[in-house]
Amino acid sequence: MSTREDLAGRRVTVAGLGVSGIPAARVLHGLGALVTVVNDGDDERAREQAAPLAAEGITVRLGDGDTLPEGTELIVTAPGWRPDKPLFAAAAAAGTEIWGDVELAWRLRGADAAPWLAVTGTNGKTTTVRMLAAILEAAGLRTAAVGNIGVSLLDAVLAEEPYDVLAVELSSYQLHWAPSLRAHSAAVLNLAPDHLDWHGSMKAYAADKGRVYEGNTVACVYNTADPATEDLVREADVVEGCRAVGFTLGTPGPSQLGVVEGILVDRAFVENRQQQAQELAEVADIDPPAPHNIANALAAAALARAYGVPASAVRDGLRAFRPDPHRIEKVADVAEVAYIDDSKATNTHAAEASLAAYDPIVWIAGGLAKGATFDELVTTAAGRLRGAVLIGADRALIAEALARHAPDVPVVDLDRTDTGAMAAAVREAARLARPGDTVLLAPACASMDMFVNYNKRGEAFAEAVRTLAAERA
Ligand code: ADP
Repeated sequence: MSTREDLAGRRVTVAGLGVSGIPAARVLHGLGALVTVVNDGDDERAREQAAPLAAEGITVRLGDGDTLPEGTELIVTAPGWRPDKPLFAAAAAAGTEIWGDVELAWRLRGADAAPWLAVTGTNGKTTTVRMLAAILEAAGLRTAAVGNIGVSLLDAVLAEEPYDVLAVELSSYQLHWAPSLRAHSAAVLNLAPDHLDWHGSMKAYAADKGRVYEGNTVACVYNTADPATEDLVREADVVEGCRAVGFTLGTPGPSQLGVVEGILVDRAFVENRQQQAQELAEVADIDPPAPHNIANALAAAALARAYGVPASAVRDGLRAFRPDPHRIEKVADVAEVAYIDDSKATNTHAAEASLAAYDPIVWIAGGLAKGATFDELVTTAAGRLRGAVLIGADRALIAEALARHAPDVPVVDLDRTDTGAMAAAVREAARLARPGDTVLLAPACASMDMFVNYNKRGEAFAEAVRTLAAERA
């Protein structure tokens, strides 16, 4: 099966009701496929979601996500469904193809569809994709930041008024289920252990990220500070003539983008790479100008330049860009202490980036560790920690790492997971902080043990800080 027309009359099973499953089921149904949605849960929410689909003529089976419906010719799965689920074993035994949401969108593109500039990596994807879209827009192109936020991929490829080019964020899960995706150019921003419980191993995780480079036509963008990303470029099967382009926070070599005296410089997309360097923008154009964010801007610039946009658009786009909430967001200064919300730091690699940006820090951390270890993070940050306040299900893992590598740092272990726990954490942090310090929420963990998502965790933090500010005013 390869095109829209091929789907008519086919028996397609959509695995998972949810943000990707519901629109996928509707689109497939609209194309004439015989759609059955299967879902593990059979709760009230699932029933509410299922009812309108059923009314439209789509079969929905709740409470049974693992039985392959008879005659299934294709499975379209939610990206988060683990590859080791029995449903997929049954599909493999039956020789049934499995597509994720990205694969579906890729297959449904029209003949002269917009090329994709793809971004993956453990951290910085959303930021980079939004910077990239801002740059492309500044170049006068019709584009969208697609993926986790903003326009959905399916809507983008089916849009009535076609886009010129898309800035696409891809997770490792999505890449796992997208075997035929071929981006114009792609970047892997960084690679650190994350979601290992899902992928099974670091090797499998890296391999799924590396798929983003498969079949690239113009540039495979990698991070010179993270050799694993360059290894993935080397292993990728790309179109003849596609180039490896590195980004670095230092002075760029030929075929790299980098920084020279506060200026972002391109030595890749210029006529003479040995001798020429094109100035793109100033570090001061980037918000916030923290090292990891400069790296994100360089990656976005590299993809935009691969697509052929002028240097002035890189500058204008970066100037227009504003970061999303809960990503190193300043909430307030209270009693000469800065309170920063980086709730989006849901893994150790992200937390390491924000811990590197402040000194001294009272660190609020904890939540669901997702199989991570904290020794390296704590070792790197130890010298900057005034104290730590730990919350959430896996806080003992962080406490143990602190005891091993930063035994002198005072630690408050909050043994509660109720909604008031964040307020208590902020109070404890305020007690530990001294004027000039930063209280940093950079949990290094997922939020779902205590909060609906990282947004809610960040909001709880901000609320607690505002209460504190009101009391101290
Ligand atoms: P993603 O979409 O990959 O989750 P975001 O752009 O939403 O990434 O940023 C998530 C968090 O990761 C930020 O709050 C910040 O702490 C951290 N971060 C952002 N960019 C980088 C980077 N290049 N390297 C390391 N950490 C980063």
